[in-house]
Amino acid sequence: MLTLTTEIININKVGKVIAQRLKKLNIQTAQDLLYFFPFRYENYSQLSKINNLKIGDNVNIVGTVELIQNKRSPRKRINITECLVSDDSASIKIIWFNQPFIIKNLHSGDKISLAGKVEEDFSGVIMKSPIYEKIYSNANIHTQGMVPVYHSTSNITQKQIRFLTKQIIDLTDKIEEWLTDDIIKNNSLLPLNQALKKIHFPLNNNDILNARKRIAFDELFLLQLQSQITKKELKNNKAKKIKFIKKETQKFVNNLPFKLTDDQKKSAWQILQDLEKDIPMSRLLEGDVGSGKTVVAVMAMLNVVLNKKQAVLMVPTEILAKQHFESISKMLADFKITVGLITRSNKLINKNLKNKKQKLNSKIITQNSQIIIGTHALLQKKIKFDNLALVIIDEQHRFGVKQRKSIIEKSNSKYFPHLLSMTATPIPRSLALALYGDLNVSIINEMPKGRKNIITKIISEQKRNDAYKFIKEQIKNNKQIFVICPLIDISDKMGVKSAKEEYKKLNEKIFPDIKIGILHGKIKSKEKNQIMLDFLNNKIKILVATSVVEVGVDIPNATVMMIEGADRFGLAQLHQFRGRVGRSEYQSYCFLFSDNESKKTLDRLNALTKYNNGFELAKIDLKLRGPGEIYGTSQKGFPELKIASLFDYQLINQAKIEAEKIIIKDPELNNHPKIKNKLNKLINNTHLE
Ligand code: ADP
Ligand code: MG
Repeated sequence: MLTLTTEIININKVGKVIAQRLKKLNIQTAQDLLYFFPFRYENYSQLSKINNLKIGDNVNIVGTVELIQNKRSPRKRINITECLVSDDSASIKIIWFNQPFIIKNLHSGDKISLAGKVEEDFSGVIMKSPIYEKIYSNANIHTQGMVPVYHSTSNITQKQIRFLTKQIIDLTDKIEEWLTDDIIKNNSLLPLNQALKKIHFPLNNNDILNARKRIAFDELFLLQLQSQITKKELKNNKAKKIKFIKKETQKFVNNLPFKLTDDQKKSAWQILQDLEKDIPMSRLLEGDVGSGKTVVAVMAMLNVVLNKKQAVLMVPTEILAKQHFESISKMLADFKITVGLITRSNKLINKNLKNKKQKLNSKIITQNSQIIIGTHALLQKKIKFDNLALVIIDEQHRFGVKQRKSIIEKSNSKYFPHLLSMTATPIPRSLALALYGDLNVSIINEMPKGRKNIITKIISEQKRNDAYKFIKEQIKNNKQIFVICPLIDISDKMGVKSAKEEYKKLNEKIFPDIKIGILHGKIKSKEKNQIMLDFLNNKIKILVATSVVEVGVDIPNATVMMIEGADRFGLAQLHQFRGRVGRSEYQSYCFLFSDNESKKTLDRLNALTKYNNGFELAKIDLKLRGPGEIYGTSQKGFPELKIASLFDYQLINQAKIEAEKIIIKDPELNNHPKIKNKLNKLINNTHLE
């Protein structure tokens, strides 16, 4: 019998392969699948007649297959399935790419339901690769009504996810309600089981809104509880006081090749003052990409080292760790400080006295370094610090609650380390405080002087060659270029650019005599590091990459960010990509390519050409998305919030009030075992994407 804890492999139609793929999406049990939410819905609640279709619309049609056959495209080696479908008004040509097996499923005379976008090509109106479903009864889940769309990998189809979810959807009735009746009533929330049902299979927009509200409330309420408990914990613990060493700090600042901005000075000052107290600091340093957070962090670490204590800097990617290791070692070269690097593939120590890098094991590095920089590799059990006084988490939104907690617990002493979190997620101070009541906030609003606005343009296919000419000029002037693609490999989604294809094209056809590199998630870390280093050292001129370069890396010499398939990324993510250039006094450019010309896409991309400010963009992104769409998890900056929006002030406040009510009366949550249980699970289960 199916239960919530049934392993996914025991669900009907899930074999080893699918189970493995679901595991990659963190889905291991039936319950995980129920908590794997759609991020938007296609509205196919209206059936369209074929003679009424409009180019660019997403539609659902129902008709009969007249003809179906496979063809080989003469030039490219792809299979094309052609199909003619008619209803009582007209007929339309449908094509699918590289799915020859479709003709085994669909035959002339079959009644089918199709959902997808109406397009136009030389032969007239057409639908390319629509979702299809044979009609046996009236239980169509893929092509009719509000059809859920899930964030997925190319290996699992939307159809498979919907099919599996549909099978187990009644298990929602077994999910325990963990909120009290009072909370549910006071805040007009749906019961959890209903919300879970409706979020997957809503009948209308209202269902979506109500389901989202309940699930968003759960997320925000847990975050609030967590935050208020942390606040209490901090108050009950002691940290080591770090004295501000004025002379050396001034020397550091004077040695910098630039002048600090006022906001950098102010933030550094707030941090240094916190460090002088014996209550552990808990501060968030917020600043848009490129605003110069790193140097502020280094000032704090320097003071910790001068007080003969250790500081740790944890970052989300190996590339970033390596880069911080190199640049921070350099910044501190005059101070005789030993800097260590701990990632999965790199264990290095840099004794600035000799300026010689040395490979050593983690234990020796943690014992001998004053500053330790690393990735999640720092979280391994065996790593402990004897003398830890400051933990800095860069790009904090990339880490889960548990990871943030466990890095703080790496200290061997009874003292708590001070904590500084850094993020480029642009949220206003009041909101940051509402979300994270336990944090103090410093904000860098002002960009370093001399930065030019990045010139952002949407480039049409006809102008592509001009863009390449421009890039050639930039490279002649010794500048460097990023090219971002949505996918790694050639896909059956025709037209979606993949890094491998683009790399090949640029390398062989467009820039045969220019050194080009490629970077994506499937490349081994060691190679990745080398490629990044070669790019940093200007040996590679053009770097073709997937979203792996999204966070943090700093290549001041790069002046062009070219983004293929820009419509496939969220605005916040595009803004992050763009932030990889324009990090120096050189004029920089961001070129956006997209073959999706719908108004919505153009509106979104146009916003990017107009605004250079992450917060503005986040707001616009939210406005441009309809009720059927939400942020992708990773774009929002809070991994705990899959559904909740940062701009939903009212719900955030409601959650805060409810959390306070409970914590005041029952600080240990002993009288609320269900809530306590849920919170513990959250802390222990937060996975990283
Ligand atoms: P982020 O806030 O995105 O982490 P970084 O700390 O990586 O930004 O800084 C981006 C770039 O700006 C780096 O090359 C850094 O050396 C440079 N930088 C930082 N502060 C200043 C400043 N006050 N003036 C000029 N350049 C600066
Ligand atoms: Mg940074």
